Amino acid sequence: DEFRLDDEVVLVTGAASGIGKAISEACADAGAWLALADKDVEGVEAVADDLDAETLAIPADVSDHDEVVAMVEETVEGFGGLDVAFANAGIGRLGQTVDEYDVDQWHEVMDVNLDGVFYTIREAAAVMDEGGRIVTTASVLSQIASDFPGVAAYVASKGGVAQLTKQAAADLGPRGIRVNAIAPGWVHTDIGGGAFRKDSGMDHLHEQMEEETIVGRLGEPDDLKGVALFLASEASAYCTGSVLTVDGGWTTT
Ligand code: NAD
Repeated sequence: DEFRLDDEVVLVTGAASGIGKAISEACADAGAWLALADKDVEGVEAVADDLDAETLAIPADVSDHDEVVAMVEETVEGFGGLDVAFANAGIGRLGQTVDEYDVDQWHEVMDVNLDGVFYTIREAAAVMDEGGRIVTTASVLSQIASDFPGVAAYVASKGGVAQLTKQAAADLGPRGIRVNAIAPGWVHTDIGGGAFRKDSGMDHLHEQMEEETIVGRLGEPDDLKGVALFLASEASAYCTGSVLTVDGGWTTT
C-alpha cells in the first residue's frame, strides 16, 4: 500500500534513541533499508542490530559539516542511493531567561538543532533523485514560546527548523523532492539529559502537562511512528512544506 517503503533507502539522524529510534523501527517494519546515524556510536549500533532490516550504523555528529558529508556518502556507497532522509537529531538544554542565556550554550543548541538540520537537508538533497523525501523534526516550540524557563535557544532553533523546512520545500520542489516537518509536543525520551522522563522528579510538571493535553497523556516515541511513515511514503504525495503537529492537542487550547 501507499504507506510501504519496500527496498527504499532511509537515513535517520539521532537514530540511537527516542523519536529517531521509533522512526527507524517504523521504517524497518515498512520494508525500508536503514542508514542509522548518531554521535552515540554504541547506541546506534545496538539499534541497527535489533532491527529486522538491512542496516548501516553510521557514527556522525550532525553539527560537523564534514561528518554529514561523510554520513551521506557512506549511505550512498552502502545502499546505492538515498530516498528518504529524516533530519531528526537534536538536543534540549535548559538555560536561563534570554537576558542571561549563556552564549556558549546558545551556540551549542543552534549548532546541532539548526546547523545540523541544514547540513543534513543540504547533503541529502544533493544526492537524491526526483521523488526524494526529507522530514525534519521541529517541535510545537517552532510555533509558540514557552513559559518553561530557559528554552530561548531551543525555541529559536526549532522556529528556524520549521522555516528552513518550508524554504527547502520551495527550493527543492522543482527537483521533485518533498520536504515536511513533524512538530511533536512533549514526548517521553532521554532529551535534556533525562529531565523530561517520567522518573525525573519533575512530577508536578508532568501532571500539569497531562492536564493541558487533550488526549490526557504525554507522548511516547511510538506516537510518532504513524506521522513518520506518512511523510516518508507516497501516502503524503500532496504534502510539502507542511509542519504537522503531533501533540495530543496540547497546543490546541
Ligand atoms: P533523544 O535524546 O532521546 O534522542 C536524540 C538523539 O540524537 C540521541 O540518540 C543523541 O545521541 C542524538 N544526537 C544528539 N546530538 C547529536 C549530534 N550532534 N549528532 C548526531 N546525533 C546527535 O531525544 P528525542 O526527544 O528523541 O529527540 C529527537 C528530536 O525530537 C530532536 O530534534 C528534538 O528536539 C525533537 N523533539 C523532541 C520532543 C520531546 O518532547 N522529546 C519534542 C519536540 C521535538
